[in-house]
Amino acid sequence: NIWVSRDFDFFYFVQQWPGSFCDTKKSCCFPLTGKPVANFSIHGLWPNFNDGSYPSSCNIAENPFNQSQIIDLVPRAEKSWASLSCAGGSKKENKTNSDNERFWKHEWDKHGTCSYSVLDEHAYFEAALNLKDQFDLLQILQNNGIKPDGNLYSIVNISEAIEQAIGFQPGITCNRDALGNRQLNEIYLCVDKSASNFIECPILPKSGKSCTGFVEFPIF
Ligand code: 5GP
Ligand code: 5GP
Repeated sequence: NIWVSRDFDFFYFVQQWPGSFCDTKKSCCFPLTGKPVANFSIHGLWPNFNDGSYPSSCNIAENPFNQSQIIDLVPRAEKSWASLSCAGGSKKENKTNSDNERFWKHEWDKHGTCSYSVLDEHAYFEAALNLKDQFDLLQILQNNGIKPDGNLYSIVNISEAIEQAIGFQPGITCNRDALGNRQLNEIYLCVDKSASNFIECPILPKSGKSCTGFVEFPIF
């Protein structure tokens, strides 16, 4: 694979708001362990280049996902890295559960394998879980009066609350609920190559995915 030798520059650590994943037209499913807690959860830890491009699916054959390598981390991952997409179909087709292991495998295959020069599978998942535990995004927002109550909040206020708490400007993306209203979807934070320190983002996520003005912060 051409990416193997190209390495990467930094990580995006991406967290999703579950309420915004679930209230879309597509809806969502919960893992067998039940409804996840109402807080931001991990989407992924993504190696990236400074110009905004990124490697993906690097030498999967040599580094296949193996759940047994992260058994000790599973309880933490079930809490902080729950999958919300309906496994193998949509909720309308009666697929009622998500599949955490499938989500983790997807993230490892697509992104984790590209950081293999720095982190093996166990180190990759542990790094993401430790990053999650460094800051509680929901607490940070709530401390600033920004609550997941279905009301509209200013993207600038959301961004500044996070920047004040973490010290670095986040990337913010929006999606649309089933009625088409714009809502807070994901928060991108940048992390150095060791996957342990937050840094100023060399480049924020694509502007097409960003959002401005006031957006909904839906209930979960
Ligand atoms: P979307 O287009 O829905 O925002 O992203 C789809 C998928 O592409 C993401 O889940 C992620 O795997 C990958 N992706 C999107 N944007 C970025 C990016 O800026 N950096 C990296 N490393 N991956 C991205
Ligand atoms: P990406 O390529 O966007 O990193 O990963 C998204 C893939 O992971 C999609 O195939 C999606 O169906 C699956 N997936 C499973 N659970 C989740 C979840 O909770 N959130 C997101 N964004 N994707 C999930």
